[in-house]
Amino acid sequence: MRKVQLVLLFLGIGFSVKAQVVSIDSLMKHVDFFTSDVLKGRMAGTQGYEMAADYCVAYFEQLGLKKINHSSILNYNQSFMVESNEISECSVSVINPDGVKYSLKLGKDFVCRGFTGHGSGLVDLAFCGFGQNKEDYNDYRGVDIAGKAVILFKSNPPFLAPDTGWGDFSIRRQVAVAKEKGAVAVIFVSRPNLTKPQKPIGSTSHGEGVHQDDMPQFQIDIPWVDSLLLGTRYPLERLDRLTENLKMPFSLSAKSKIEYKVSAHYNPAAETRNLLAYVEGSDPVLKNEFVVVSAHLDHVGMQQNLIFPGANDNASGSSAVLELARLISNREIKPARSILFVLFSAEEKGIEGSTFMAQNLPLPKEKIAAIYNMDCIAFGDSIQIGNGLSNPNLWDKMKEIDEKNASLMTNQTWAGGGSDLTPFHQIGIPGLYVVTKYSYTHLHLPTDTPQTLNARTYKEAVNLLYQTLITD
Ligand SMILES: [Zn+2]
Repeated sequence: MRKVQLVLLFLGIGFSVKAQVVSIDSLMKHVDFFTSDVLKGRMAGTQGYEMAADYCVAYFEQLGLKKINHSSILNYNQSFMVESNEISECSVSVINPDGVKYSLKLGKDFVCRGFTGHGSGLVDLAFCGFGQNKEDYNDYRGVDIAGKAVILFKSNPPFLAPDTGWGDFSIRRQVAVAKEKGAVAVIFVSRPNLTKPQKPIGSTSHGEGVHQDDMPQFQIDIPWVDSLLLGTRYPLERLDRLTENLKMPFSLSAKSKIEYKVSAHYNPAAETRNLLAYVEGSDPVLKNEFVVVSAHLDHVGMQQNLIFPGANDNASGSSAVLELARLISNREIKPARSILFVLFSAEEKGIEGSTFMAQNLPLPKEKIAAIYNMDCIAFGDSIQIGNGLSNPNLWDKMKEIDEKNASLMTNQTWAGGGSDLTPFHQIGIPGLYVVTKYSYTHLHLPTDTPQTLNARTYKEAVNLLYQTLITD
């Protein structure tokens, strides 16, 4: 009951349904709701996500948007199953070789991986490079890791996956190998010698493989992993450099210990849903064609008392879908084509919602004229429109519209889709990706809060898409 009241409370506060310009107040009101603590980081398959989805459905209803008639859709909901993991407790302490113990701060010094297993222990440690267990490259050869926590770089060896260091990298596969070798927990750490080493981030992107329910999995910040390596004469930077230069494993036992406790509840099949609603076009023939406006609604959830608010990622895009739905549905003269508003679930797990929709298209493919996907559109000071190299006509049109408006669009673009656009790009639906440039400063960090958003960039990014939708 409280849930419903809360949704209504947010919906009830002063949305102007008459205004025909993008309202930063409306946008930020949605963002404030999506990032509020009660939604607990909007992880697909959790109650927090359901509350966010209820809010959007209530808004679609308030605007009088139409429902798509298709076997995969009930009302505005296209349901599917996802795995979810709720982490109720996590703590990590480092015990250095002198026996001094330090408690690490969750969200700053360490995080749990989104699909961590549970368990507790006070154990020894070993560093095992990239956790590879191949015939010609074996990080585990000659190191005893039975009953220990193993420290691994969170990527593939750069010389085996030269482009990005990611290649076919899978957290799950690394954990499975570590378990098979006798490890009881896995600590991931960013390579320190990258141009931009990664801070511990909230992430539910876990890669191919089986869930390991009894394997606690962490990402710990570089300085703390260095303290785990105290007394070995091999700080992480040196291990990174040695491995890269010698192109051979360099594994060792550490002298520190780690104490940890994780409580997590794994659900292999939780229900979640994409949301779809449309405004009918004004042209008697063209209204049978659709332009899709989409964004992912989910984020990476919470751990113990730490909530990942995901203001830029992607409360910004989700709120823009709602604001564009308001603007389009309130127009006296609607665009010629119908506009379909979509919120995807489970992007953070690996674009599962958009993939599900592309595989269960509720419209004939040839009736979808274009899809515009918004993901992280409110941080920074310029707008980037991706996938332009795959769809130069759409990109040129948007650039022209931008030049007549805020002129905030950069010339850089790319090909091949990107995130939720990819499954549609792959089946031949033309589309563009709306993002802001240098958008990822706070990506998946607890600091991705509404206060960090740039109101002007945000408003202009939404306006650019609005002007594009009404110019056909
Ligand atoms: Zn994300």
